[in-house]
Amino acid sequence: MDAKNKLDFLLQDVHLATDLRAIAAKVLAGTRITFEEGVLLYEKGELSYLGVLANYIREKKHGDYTYFNRNFHIEPTNVCVYDCKFCSYSRLVKERAEGWEMEVAGMMDIVRKYDNEPVTEVHITGGVVPKQNLAFYSDFFRQCKAHRPDLHIKALTPVEYYYIFKKAKLSHYEGMKYLKEAGLDSMPGGGAEIFHPEVREKIAHDKCTAEQWLDIHEQAHSLGMHSNATMLYGHIEEYWHRVDHMERLRQLQDKTGGFQAFIPLKFRNKENQMSHIPEVSVIEDLRNYAIARIYMDNFPHIKAYWAMISRDTAQLSLAFGVDDIDGTLDDTTKIYSMAGAEEQKPGMSTKELVDLIKDVRRHPIERDTLYKVVTDYKDVVFEADESTAKKKYYALPVLSSEI
Ligand code: SF4
Repeated sequence: MDAKNKLDFLLQDVHLATDLRAIAAKVLAGTRITFEEGVLLYEKGELSYLGVLANYIREKKHGDYTYFNRNFHIEPTNVCVYDCKFCSYSRLVKERAEGWEMEVAGMMDIVRKYDNEPVTEVHITGGVVPKQNLAFYSDFFRQCKAHRPDLHIKALTPVEYYYIFKKAKLSHYEGMKYLKEAGLDSMPGGGAEIFHPEVREKIAHDKCTAEQWLDIHEQAHSLGMHSNATMLYGHIEEYWHRVDHMERLRQLQDKTGGFQAFIPLKFRNKENQMSHIPEVSVIEDLRNYAIARIYMDNFPHIKAYWAMISRDTAQLSLAFGVDDIDGTLDDTTKIYSMAGAEEQKPGMSTKELVDLIKDVRRHPIERDTLYKVVTDYKDVVFEADESTAKKKYYALPVLSSEI
């Protein structure tokens, strides 16, 4: 039964509540759901119901295509002037001896390590320190582009930019324009957390506000740059805070069209100031991906970071609205492992990523940062590698049998 048949079948279910049937009918018609309907999905939507809706949208937009890229990370520092309660990664400035702070030369050494590798993107993010300022980053972007013009620089978030531009006395627009001219290509989605001040003031009181975060993305989009957006879920927020967060992003996307992917990030509770809060279940992760796919109708892609949620959950997520599982990473990020993710040395070969996608009967596509197809792996057969363990195929009750 294909995704459309499953949705038709669901709509004929006499036991389905009237309000949930109305939402399913909207999904079939391609009509946007409201804020109240978003909250209702969180409160009443069973996993199987949400999976049918989200998978219908996912396959309508992308078929079986599942995207990944070949990238590496540079994390210039984990020292930070801010004190987000959920952060397992950073060290306060007074604890800087426990952290690291790189120079431009050290960052260029990492770039040069990939000289003969077919990577397409460097993803740069980390903490916020005064010396990594406008001059520091413009110097790095220029050197990086001079050395390897084809490498896409996806760097920093409005958290860093707000701080850097304020110190440099530049408006958001002027700052983004300056760094774009230095070589910046696009922005990752971090620092969004939960926008609503009721939550934001409790978990991230001292960094940029929702309005500042959104404005910096808007300015980047106005300059022709693309970006992503995240949401940190599963801590003290209520369901309506998640919908409020997605609503603000959906509105900005209506205005600019500059976002590419929405990336729900699961709160992990290892060694941070919110460690007493239990993590949500995998079921809740999948429900959240599915609701994101249903609600964010104007976002082309829903991404799951395999390094954050584990390889197995990343495979499952491909049946709940996700069409992108990020990149090879090459063990170049500590953000996920320090927060308690299952992957303590995150890195996958292209073959491993392709196998992971094919094992759940999806179609692997290596993309560049802007979703241009680099390689279609549908019919590519790698040479046998006995060291690669056989992956499991999960036969999902949602999508492989009647409801
Ligand atoms: S989440 Fe980012 S801004 Fe907040 S403390 Fe950690 S590194 Fe700093």
